[in-house]
Amino acid sequence: MKTLANIIAVTMALGLATSVSAQRAEQSGIANKTFQKADSAESIKAMKKGDRYAVVCRECDSVTVKEVDDEKDVEAMCHDGGSMHCPSCKKKYTVKAVGNRAGATPAITKVTIVNAEGKECMFVVPLKG
Ligand SMILES: [Zn+2]
Repeated sequence: MKTLANIIAVTMALGLATSVSAQRAEQSGIANKTFQKADSAESIKAMKKGDRYAVVCRECDSVTVKEVDDEKDVEAMCHDGGSMHCPSCKKKYTVKAVGNRAGATPAITKVTIVNAEGKECMFVVPLKG
């Protein structure tokens, strides 16, 4: 009887652990998903306060996951001449935002983040699907 009770207890504990980890993955909402780079001001500005995004730095091959604290952060990421800081290599890179011809549709402003040599070295990936 004692053995059976133990088996039940272990099974229940395992079941609980499984559901907890499944719940965690669901809460984060980013497990086993693929996200695309946001390369326009429009797609960057679609992020709202509380949304998570990844900053991929090719200079040091790192990914930093951040949360939008303030909608001004989003504005800063697509502000031409602004800067983006990499917490991994601790360098600052420059945001370049180039709009297409006035009146053209769709009005897309292409955003790239470049290093001191003007080479694209960083990009932003919104983590929502
Ligand atoms: Zn870096």
